[in-house]
Amino acid sequence: MNFCPICSNFLSLENESSTGYRLKCPGCVYYHPLKEMRLTKTFQSKEPAPITYPQQNKQITDEQCDKCGCLKAFFWEFQTRGADEQSTISFECIKCGHKWKNDR
Ligand SMILES: [Zn+2]
Ligand SMILES: [Zn+2]
Repeated sequence: MNFCPICSNFLSLENESSTGYRLKCPGCVYYHPLKEMRLTKTFQSKEPAPITYPQQNKQITDEQCDKCGCLKAFFWEFQTRGADEQSTISFECIKCGHKWKNDR
């Protein structure tokens, strides 16, 4: 944070509708305009945002689509009700949308 160069008071953030934000000293007339400063900067990460797909609860795995040859597919698991039934993995090609199942 910034301190006043004149009286060393702690500068407080003020929101001025005309000029944007500024750091204002509560002890004297000093202020530091923040016009160029982006206040959202601290919230921005340098790492690329993870790719999100509209289909939620689906994960992507390396599975080849036998329709278009795409090597990535969404997959999700079906938990069947029957006690002796085993779970089924369902796949959906991320490229062409082709769906298939993998019984295990
Ligand atoms: Zn001051
Ligand atoms: Zn495909």
